[in-house]
Amino acid sequence: MPATDQPVGRPSRQDLRARMLAQRYLRKDPSGQPIETTEQMFRRVAKAIAAVEERSGGPRSVVSALQNAFYRLMASGDFLPNSPTLMNAGREGGMLSACFVLPVPDSIDGIFEALKQTAQVQKAGGGTGFAFDALRPTGDLVASSGGTTSGPLSFMGVFASATGAIQQGAFRRGANMGMMSVHHPDILNFITAKDDSTAFENFNLSVKVTDRFMADLHENPGRPHIVQNPRTGERYVIPKTVPPHACTLADLLPADHANGACWTVMDLWNLIVSHSHRTGEPGICFIDAVNRNNPLPDCGRIEATNPCGEQPLLSNESCNLGSINLSRFVTSDGQDLDWRRLGRVIRRAVRFLDNVIDANTYPTGEIHQTTLAHRKIGLGVMGFADTLILRGIRYDSPEAETLARTIAGFLTETAHAASADLATLRGHFPSWPMSRWAKPPARPMRNAACTTVAPTGSISIIAGCSSGIEPIYSLATTRLALDGQEFFELHPLLERLGQKQGWLTNAVRQALARGEPIDGISAVPRRTAELFVTAHEVSPEWHVRIQAAWQSWIDSAVSKTVNLPAGSAIEDVDKVFRLAHKLGCKGITVYRDGSRAGQTLSGPSET
Ligand code: UDP
Repeated sequence: MPATDQPVGRPSRQDLRARMLAQRYLRKDPSGQPIETTEQMFRRVAKAIAAVEERSGGPRSVVSALQNAFYRLMASGDFLPNSPTLMNAGREGGMLSACFVLPVPDSIDGIFEALKQTAQVQKAGGGTGFAFDALRPTGDLVASSGGTTSGPLSFMGVFASATGAIQQGAFRRGANMGMMSVHHPDILNFITAKDDSTAFENFNLSVKVTDRFMADLHENPGRPHIVQNPRTGERYVIPKTVPPHACTLADLLPADHANGACWTVMDLWNLIVSHSHRTGEPGICFIDAVNRNNPLPDCGRIEATNPCGEQPLLSNESCNLGSINLSRFVTSDGQDLDWRRLGRVIRRAVRFLDNVIDANTYPTGEIHQTTLAHRKIGLGVMGFADTLILRGIRYDSPEAETLARTIAGFLTETAHAASADLATLRGHFPSWPMSRWAKPPARPMRNAACTTVAPTGSISIIAGCSSGIEPIYSLATTRLALDGQEFFELHPLLERLGQKQGWLTNAVRQALARGEPIDGISAVPRRTAELFVTAHEVSPEWHVRIQAAWQSWIDSAVSKTVNLPAGSAIEDVDKVFRLAHKLGCKGITVYRDGSRAGQTLSGPSET
């Protein structure tokens, strides 16, 4: 239905929040009726998360004070943990983490064991990431049968089907991340895997590129691209005649046969870029940047992230996330942030997230063991775009970049200090002696990693703020939510300012609902119009610069989508990817408006 046919300005964000809470978060009786209020949900979660301190010998009075403090943290809207914690804490079998990475070994037993674990994680509401690099390439030998393998993508399809089947029983749609190195012989099949828009719908795909690949791209782009069979170590080049959808081992030539008719580094890059431009996938993961910041290099290389890319993890690690609503810390005169109060909330949130590790029920013994050994947590933020508006700063400005870096630095340094204090109180994480933290100057830490910027797709709706560090998507938004129902709303801050400044007439609402640019509506003061810059008005370069500013301090990674207008060129995507690498991002995803059906957010012009 066109947005303009709907009652303009109805308080739909509240509807959406209430419906979402009732359907997915609140406890229900067997008939499906909620049997707790939102406040009771926060009490349930606070009690379960504080109770672990009593189990580990904490005095009752301290635990009870902490329970109240955790309740206030959530009920005030200052901080929310990731959805699984809100949904499951204090309930039977409470699985509390959003992020998992599972190993996919090169054997039928191993693959189907990973599949079973995926089912266990997803039915409890977690998202799973996988690297498919270990699987032998399409057409390679299978010794036991004497035949050949159908390749990594056919197994990825099995994971996609399993996720589709599990979906119904879970609190939310299962989500997967599939990753593959640019040097795997199946990389052409992987890059083109989602050409059919109905394939792998519950997977995000990301190609892992190395610094060496990026250096070749700059210095020697015509060099033949080398792929390597993970089973035998044999190196190959890909003849240009090979169709990108159906590349098998039999099509490849040994690397020393490279000639002018092979796929070059530049060709590979262009294939990734053109597909990202067309469908938004695959994204890119700068895997060397990820591993340079691996806090536990002696425990293994990081090969995959969770579904939205913000949490690189070792195999069998899980991580629970939580986000602070920054917009609640802008001082009433709009001139600054209340840093002291923010510092207190960060410290409390670190304690909360560290407790979640012990309150958690893990889907498998291996995940339990690895997670407790490393104790990674992911404290991040939401409401950054709202914060900028309240501070009178445009999203696409050097001031915003500086503020991003300042807040990210404060967040990470304070979280580290809080984790170090917890280490004094409760001991460092068991793998600490093998970690970077143990290198001089050694600093005992309770958690191998502390900060992560999540998308906050659902919890930002509960908190009523802009999501993660994304700019405002649209001034008037139609959200496709839950059962495909549409919700229309004006941006809440715009609504508030419009009321306060007295210009929000019905004619202005209608104009905004039609998608008219705000700076063309004469009733809106110029300064206000300037601040409400939307995702499509922010240039791709500024999207990347803001992501990089956050990444410069964040321990794990940053969830961010570079939104491009429908008419963007392939070259725009090329520039975005190169800039992201240059500025030190760990990964990058673009989304060109309208390039995929069923997007969950859409501006008025496309609805
Ligand atoms: N996630 C998932 N399914 C979903 C949404 C999220 O498995 O439908 C996982 C995924 O690992 C993602 C992480 O949760 O990267 C955090 O997403 P988000 O911050 O949007 O979750 P929220 O806590 O707001 O629900």
